[in-house]
Amino acid sequence: MSPDFDIDLFVVGGGSGGIRAARVAASHGARVMLAEESRLGGTCVIRGCVPKKLFVYASRFGDALDQAGDFGWKVSLPRFDWPSLVAAKDREIARLEGLYARGQSKAGVEVVHSRAMLVDAHTVRLADGRSVRAGTILIATGAKPELPAFEGIELGITSDAAFDLKEFPRRLVIGGAGYIAMEFAGLFQALGSDVTIVCRGSNVLRGFDEDVRQAIASSYTNRGIKILLGDSIRRLASEKMSEDGKQPPTIDVVTDQGARLKADQVLLAFGRTPNTIGLGLDRVGVRTDEKGAIIVDANSRSSVPNIFAVGDVSNQINLTPVAIREGHAFADSVFGAKPWRVDYANVPTAVFSSPEIGTVGLTELEARAEYAVVDVYKARIRPLAAGVTGDCGTALLKLVVDGESDRILGVHLFAEGASELIQVLSIALESGATWADFMSTMAVHPTFAEELLALQ
Ligand code: NDP
Repeated sequence: MSPDFDIDLFVVGGGSGGIRAARVAASHGARVMLAEESRLGGTCVIRGCVPKKLFVYASRFGDALDQAGDFGWKVSLPRFDWPSLVAAKDREIARLEGLYARGQSKAGVEVVHSRAMLVDAHTVRLADGRSVRAGTILIATGAKPELPAFEGIELGITSDAAFDLKEFPRRLVIGGAGYIAMEFAGLFQALGSDVTIVCRGSNVLRGFDEDVRQAIASSYTNRGIKILLGDSIRRLASEKMSEDGKQPPTIDVVTDQGARLKADQVLLAFGRTPNTIGLGLDRVGVRTDEKGAIIVDANSRSSVPNIFAVGDVSNQINLTPVAIREGHAFADSVFGAKPWRVDYANVPTAVFSSPEIGTVGLTELEARAEYAVVDVYKARIRPLAAGVTGDCGTALLKLVVDGESDRILGVHLFAEGASELIQVLSIALESGATWADFMSTMAVHPTFAEELLALQ
């Protein structure tokens, strides 16, 4: 490794991508420093996927307790305690943060809790004024919530704050209808909130398969979640604090279509914007796109040859497992003499709504635009347990198939456990499975997944 530099690799940002890259590069013998101005673990671990999933677990006990009686359980009146959930989440996040810190230290990565800024293509300045010269720099600073401009927006919260609210919001209005909106709507409603989603489009979850979008919208509506379609939040205003000062103020929400709503909290879930401000990218010539994301090539290399970017700060797919793969591929390729690239085809994804959405490959619309003959196999299934509980919700399974080669192009599920199923189904897709392969596979009975093997 070059003696011209203090270290071989400087990683800016200790989230999923940065942590993986630092650890793997160090394991290849690189001298690595990682700067993280906040908590180690980044969005996913500290204020994203992990706390969200813990809250989703919590939210499912309500339905389970409701249905327990149908299966013979005598359950006395359950009571949900929000502060206990927040405390349990805090303990688990602190434990994971500790694990990450120990992992970095064991690998020999020097972690500095500081903001970092690029001075030139090889020099990083830390908040205490110290400068570090590095052969390679990796930007892995992630993204933050995007906030459009409207009156009173400062009264809303983003998902960052939603995990730590002091009071449980009895009335929640959500702006946006993407991943975060649908996940938080489902979990807060199940915990007891009265939820309204304000969606500017003609349906929720733009980009997902149309049948799945319809399935989740009607399921949420049946559960009592209100969805205002073709509408946007125009203005938020705050009512006065109650006289004893204990009651948090109600927020008045006015929409473009003239709806007037009262909320205890307004969750702003309008997408995310890359964290590139103040990094000094312009100064060193790192190019960004119109959204501020660092433009990278298939090796995660930016327009400056020794500066790379992985994860949500780059212009690639914004999902945690993608960031981790990118970090790993970068470290193996640059420091391990084992070059490889991330394959961005068939990236599975899940929305942890209730029930969940699992999806991989092409939607029906995408397939029809790309292939001459497209066969679609789908079914709406009533889960076995519903016969006892009387629940009228249905699950959706859908296969999108290339009619000429019989190859499966896409799988779309709306069902309990869809996130787990889609992970395994993505292997089938990646391996080029055909509809005939599905039909010739023996079923496991009684399961929900067996229905996939009988779609005609
Ligand atoms: P999304 O991009 O998923 O959704 C943004 C929503 O906000 C869309 O409904 C969009 O509408 C709407 N919107 C955007 N701008 C405006 C505006 N000015 N006025 C009104 N509505 C607007 O973003 P999220 O914030 O939900 O999530 C951010 C990202 O985080 C996701 O894209 C995903 O990468 C990641 N994530 C992944 C999860 C998972 O894997 N389970 C969970 C949570 C987040 P329109 O569709 O019309 O543009």
